[in-house]
Amino acid sequence: MKFLVFIEQREGKIRKASLEALSVARRLAGEPVAAVLAGRGVAALASGLGRYGAGVVHVADREELALYSNKGYVGALDAAAKKESPDAVLIAATAMGKDVAPRFAARNDVSVLADVMDLRVEEGRLVAWRPVYSGKARAEVDCGGAALQVATTRPNVFPAQAGDAPEPRIETLDLPAVAPRARVVKIETSESKELDVSEADIIVSGGRGIKGPENWPLIRDLQQALGAALGASRAVVDAGWIDHQHQVGQTGKVVSPTLYVACGISGAIQHLAGMGTSKVIVALNKDPEAPIFKVATYGIVGDIFQTVPEVAKAVRAAKAE
Ligand SMILES: Cc1cc2nc3c(=O)[nH]c(=O)nc-3n(C[C@H](O)[C@H](O)[C@H](O)COP(=O)(O)OP(=O)(O)OC[C@H]3O[C@@H](n4cnc5c(N)ncnc54)[C@H](O)[C@@H]3O)c2cc1C
Repeated sequence: MKFLVFIEQREGKIRKASLEALSVARRLAGEPVAAVLAGRGVAALASGLGRYGAGVVHVADREELALYSNKGYVGALDAAAKKESPDAVLIAATAMGKDVAPRFAARNDVSVLADVMDLRVEEGRLVAWRPVYSGKARAEVDCGGAALQVATTRPNVFPAQAGDAPEPRIETLDLPAVAPRARVVKIETSESKELDVSEADIIVSGGRGIKGPENWPLIRDLQQALGAALGASRAVVDAGWIDHQHQVGQTGKVVSPTLYVACGISGAIQHLAGMGTSKVIVALNKDPEAPIFKVATYGIVGDIFQTVPEVAKAVRAAKAE
């Protein structure tokens, strides 16, 4: 089966989620696959993709692609697809990927297997499963026999596997001039250089149980001990205790870290929708009936003002050994 993978870069850095998509494509194909990379000054990034499974990288390196535009980046993907005629296109289900995939699919009159958590190939078909109904059920899906199959892969679910591989062949994409109907005028990055929850391997989250924004240092201490990103429930975001970028859940970010630590979070279905697929879930809550304990791998019943510092202390002691 022939794969093409859309590689996302932001500010000259390849997103880890794209390396995960590339790795899974390489594994399913059983051989190096094709990739496409768009942006300005990005050609130098292409050679590093060989280790993750790219045999050829189609590069669209142009001034007008310096900032993301749907039309420009989908144009690059489309041009690479025309050259490669792939059976399947994989795109990481990041904010950009979720914008690129539907337009690319619509242009090609096919559907998208969105935000998948598992992928296999059966008789030339991509078969995936994806969470539905806020994570309450899993649906097994395929593209119904379409000649071009498109899937977006959930970040942090598939491992990014680097190996020894020759540098990929680099092909320059010749694109017609793009006249975008909408353009990004300005990007304002958040002032804090905090680790983004959607890509973090460990997340420590705080909910209404922290009582007030003055108590974030309690959670921050454990977050720092674990080298984690800081997450939050919607209740504390709505209360203005922390910025929305930290919100995990149905109307926040969907995360799949190796370790998710929920402190003073009840475990409402909308929160579980965002973190229920974490590999290990640790819940700290004073209410033994809190729904979060139903999905937790480990639970600590008690007042977080006592348990969280204890856990942080134990983590630091274990790391010091
Ligand atoms: C359309 C829609 C979308 C939504 N999207 C999201 C979303 O994306 N993300 C999200 O999180 N929510 C979302 N919600 C809100 C969700 O329903 C819950 O209201 C919210 O998750 C509750 O946040 P919480 O767990 O912090 O607060 P609470 O439900 O109030 O829970 C606080 C928990 O802290 C515990 N606690 C209190 N004090 C202590 C203490 N001292 N020690 C230990 N434990 C303590 C309590 O036992 C309780 O379990 C959404 C709701 C709707 C309707």
